[in-house]
Amino acid sequence: MPDTLLSIPDSLAIQEPECAQALREMALTIGAEYRDNQAWQQANLWQRLTESERIVQFRVVWADRDGRPQVNRGYRVQMNGALGPYKGGLRFHPTVNLSILKFLAFEQVFKNALTGLPLGGGKGGADFDPKGKTDVEIMNFCRAFIDGLWRELGPWRDVPAGDIGVGEREIGFLFGRYREIAGQHDGTITGKAHGYGGSWLRPQATGYGLVFFLTAMLRHAAMEIHNQRVAISGSGQVALYAAEQCLKQGMQVVSLSDSDGTLSMPNGLADGLLQEIMECKFRRHGRLRDFAEQKNLTFLTGKRPWGLKADIALPCATQNELSSSDADALLAAGVRVVAEGANMPCEAEAIRKLHTAGVLFAPGKAANAGGVATSGFEMAQNAEHLFWSPGDVERRLRETMDAIHATCVDYSRHAERAEKQVSYVEGANRAAFHKVAAAVLAQGY
Ligand code: NDP
Repeated sequence: MPDTLLSIPDSLAIQEPECAQALREMALTIGAEYRDNQAWQQANLWQRLTESERIVQFRVVWADRDGRPQVNRGYRVQMNGALGPYKGGLRFHPTVNLSILKFLAFEQVFKNALTGLPLGGGKGGADFDPKGKTDVEIMNFCRAFIDGLWRELGPWRDVPAGDIGVGEREIGFLFGRYREIAGQHDGTITGKAHGYGGSWLRPQATGYGLVFFLTAMLRHAAMEIHNQRVAISGSGQVALYAAEQCLKQGMQVVSLSDSDGTLSMPNGLADGLLQEIMECKFRRHGRLRDFAEQKNLTFLTGKRPWGLKADIALPCATQNELSSSDADALLAAGVRVVAEGANMPCEAEAIRKLHTAGVLFAPGKAANAGGVATSGFEMAQNAEHLFWSPGDVERRLRETMDAIHATCVDYSRHAERAEKQVSYVEGANRAAFHKVAAAVLAQGY
C-alpha cells in the first residue's frame, strides 16, 4: 500500500481510476523516501504535485458532412509548469475523459523532467472519434477545438502536440486555426510538418527513441541486439516507427495490432511490407484486418500479441493493454525485456509479475520520452527561426535516450539492495520526482 503521507482518496480511485493508478505507482516508489524527507513533507509536496495547476474544459461545436452541428467536450490539463511551459499531447478518442487526461498529464510532468529540457507537463484532448470522419469533418473539428483552447496556449505558456488520433493532418488543421486567431506563426504547437516549422524526425521520434532506449538496456545487461524477436502492439505513429527502428537494428518484428486484433508475423516483418503498412495507416487511414486480407497475412481477430513467441515486448497502443494474465502469457512465450512505448500500457500487477520473474522492464515515462524531447527540439528550432538537419536531430535524440537510460540506472537503488537487476521504474520515478520537487520548492508558494 502507498504510504499514508502520500494519500490517494478512495473517491479518486472510484471516480478517476486511471489517475489514481498513476499516482499509486509513483507513491509506491517514492513513499519511503518521502517519509524520511522533512522538507518535502513540510512543503506538502505530494498534494502540490498531484493537484493540477489548472484544468480547462470547453464545448466544441463543429459542422458534420451534412452541415449539422455536433457537440464534443474538449479539455486541457495544465498539470505542473515548474520546469517550463506546459508540454504534452492532445488525444482525440471517444474514451477521453478527465481521469485519463489527468493520469497522462501527471506522467508527462515526470517524463518531461527526465528529458533534461525546460518543459512542464500537460495533456489535453477531446472525446471526438476521428474514425470514419471525412477530411473536412476532421478539419472542422480541429478548428472548433482551437477556438475553445487557443487563449490558454503560447510558446512560453502551453505547447500541445499529437497523441492518439492526432497526427500530422490534425496538427496542420490545429496550427492553421491557431495562427489565424493568434495572428502569429510561432512554436506553440509541435508535430508540425517540416515544411512549415516542424522538426525532422518528430513523427519517428517516440518509436525510434523507444528502440534507442531498448538497445541501451540490452547493452547494459550484456544481451544481444541482433535477431531478437520483438512483439509490438499498436499500428500508429509510435508502433510503426518503433518497428522501423527495430528492423534497422537487425531485430525481427513478429507482430503489430490495432483495436480489431493482431497481425502475426512469426517469420518477421520485411521492410517493404512495413512501408506498405505505413502507407495504409498514415495516408489512407486503413485497417490492419483489411490489409492482412489483401496480402494474405495472418490476422488474429480480437487478440492481443502477448502470447506470440518473442524475446522482447513493446506495448505501443494505449493504457492498460497488458494485464496480469497477459504478463503470464509473455513469460510463457519467453519474453525477457518489456519497454513501454505507450503511456501506462501495463497494469500494476503485470509489472510486478514481470519484475519478480527477472524481466527487464522500462516504464513509458523513460522509454517513450523521445517524442516529447524532439518536440522540445522543435520548440528550440522555432525560437531560433532555424532548422536542424535530420542527422543533428537524430544524434540529439540518441544522446537524450542514452542520458535518460543512464539517469534511470543511477537512481535505481538496486546496488543498495544488492540486486543485479536494474529497476527502471524506481530509477525513472526517483530521478524525475527529485527534479520536479526541487523546482517546485525553489519557486515557493
Ligand atoms: P496513434 O493514434 O497513432 O495509434 C494508436 C494505436 O493504438 C492504433 O493502432 C490504435 O488502433 C491502437 N489503439 C488505440 N486504442 C486502443 C484500444 N483501446 N485497444 C487496442 N488498440 C488501441 O497513437 P500514437 O501511436 O501516437 O500513441 C500510442 C501510445 O503512445 C499512446 O499511449 C500515447 O499516449 C503514447 N505516446 C505517444 C507519443 C507520440 O509522440 N505520438 C509520445 C509518447 C507516448 P485503432 O486504430 O484500432 O484505434
